[in-house]
Amino acid sequence: MELSFTHMTPEEFRVKFASEEDCLRFLAEKKWGKTYICKKCGNTNYCKGKHLYSRRCTRCKHDESAKVGTLFEGCRFGLEKAFYIAFLACNNHHISTYEISRQLQLRQMTCWSFNKKIQECIDARSKTDANKKIDLEQILLKKHIK
Ligand SMILES: [Zn+2]
Repeated sequence: MELSFTHMTPEEFRVKFASEEDCLRFLAEKKWGKTYICKKCGNTNYCKGKHLYSRRCTRCKHDESAKVGTLFEGCRFGLEKAFYIAFLACNNHHISTYEISRQLQLRQMTCWSFNKKIQECIDARSKTDANKKIDLEQILLKKHIK
């Protein structure tokens, strides 16, 4: 999947990640790709898990969601909305959380606190590598935290 988030407009982004499924598919592809390793037992074979795009270890049966270990672990509102907030934050679209909350029909507090979480990731990344561009994919998958 070729990605050029930086050149996308917010509208294009919302079309690309329009549903929970679009987001989960993206997270699963980026998180595991072809190199699945079970977190519990280290096995590299899996089958489809109980949930959409989750993977289940064929040895210990541990079922891992595509969200685990990403910025969206524990996120309690629609993934497509969370993706959109992350996109805005990473690409410096200065839209107030009031405006985001209106667009997404989420509580302003929800938008504000998720936006804060993303900003913290961006700040952490800027600290470790000041010259590095803020890359949405890195932020989403928390790759900056080693
Ligand atoms: Zn396992």
